[in-house]
Amino acid sequence: MVIKNAKIITPEKITDDADILIEGGTIQSIGRDLSDTDTLDAKGMYLTPGFVDIHTHGGYGADFMDSTPEAFSDALRFHLDNGTTSVVATSCTAPRESIISFLDFTREYLRSGARESRLIAGVHLEGPYLSKRNRGAQKEEDLAIPDKDDYSYILNYADIIRTVTLSPELPGADKMTRALTDVGIVVSGGHDDGIYPEFMPAIGAGMSHLTHLYCAMSELRFKDGRRNVGLREYALTDDSLTAEIIADDRHIPPELARLIIRAKGADRVAVVSDSLRCAGFEKDDRLYKLGSGDDAQLFRIGDGVAVTADGTKYAGSITPVRAMVKNLIDAGIGIVDAVKTGTLTPARIIGKGKEIGSIEVGKRANICILNANFELIDLILDGNIIQKGK
Ligand SMILES: [Zn+2]
Repeated sequence: MVIKNAKIITPEKITDDADILIEGGTIQSIGRDLSDTDTLDAKGMYLTPGFVDIHTHGGYGADFMDSTPEAFSDALRFHLDNGTTSVVATSCTAPRESIISFLDFTREYLRSGARESRLIAGVHLEGPYLSKRNRGAQKEEDLAIPDKDDYSYILNYADIIRTVTLSPELPGADKMTRALTDVGIVVSGGHDDGIYPEFMPAIGAGMSHLTHLYCAMSELRFKDGRRNVGLREYALTDDSLTAEIIADDRHIPPELARLIIRAKGADRVAVVSDSLRCAGFEKDDRLYKLGSGDDAQLFRIGDGVAVTADGTKYAGSITPVRAMVKNLIDAGIGIVDAVKTGTLTPARIIGKGKEIGSIEVGKRANICILNANFELIDLILDGNIIQKGK
């Protein structure tokens, strides 16, 4: 198939009136006057890579922790309808048995070769090794401390786990960081309560990423008569750290998005949805569960964002990555950089930068055709047009 006359957004620039030749699910050639029996005219449209969401809990009523084929299918449908073609299914803090059954289910699902399983780029464990103070919507009873808990079960799932979020100042966090990074898992700091230099041993041990920067994260504060930065401020100038932002204009307002991207650059910032099961639904009065347990935390849809049942905290987002990238463009970030934060940068963070995340020869042909307003017109998954957008 050839997609013709499009404005192709590559990691470096926008190429006008260009064609893409796709064969066998792979991008074969990018240029002018390419031909094939099967052509699609995309005159005036933007072509971006399929979006990559490395932190999402679900959508369309489903949470990945439900650990059923139906739940995975519903959550993935939410993402596909919004142009996201690779997701890292994310757990929440829960009893160990439910985390293990989520991991077992996901591993089986990936092995089953189910059609949609190619959308799953791995698993992110969000906790349970998180601070009490900044646990956000995560459940206090299920929190654990690395020093006092046997986390070795996580190492047995290194084949599917891409990322683990932990709070770097907790006792034993540095040792745990080393154990995880040794088996190839990305350690991400977040939901933490440390100040400089308490989190430095974990960074020294290999912590390389940050979970939703500025949300449920330590900040500048007085301690023992001294003012010390938290992870929010420290992160801005440490180039060894990449960071997620929930760019839904709620968790991260546009002014803050500009500050973060100016400080870290689009190569180190990944837009994530952190979407919950209510993502994709209209505002209603229902209470939804975070995760799957009978006594799970409850939340509801607030003003453009998910909030805890009592309405006092943000609980996650209801916005897909594509819409967040559009928010960044509206905030004044250049289109090429904004798209990179939702595609190539997250792909690289999880070690998939050679396979997905950009429109380049040799990569999987996961492509969004978007109008000038960044609305999804068509979606191409592994070389097949799979649907019209909404
Ligand atoms: Zn989350």
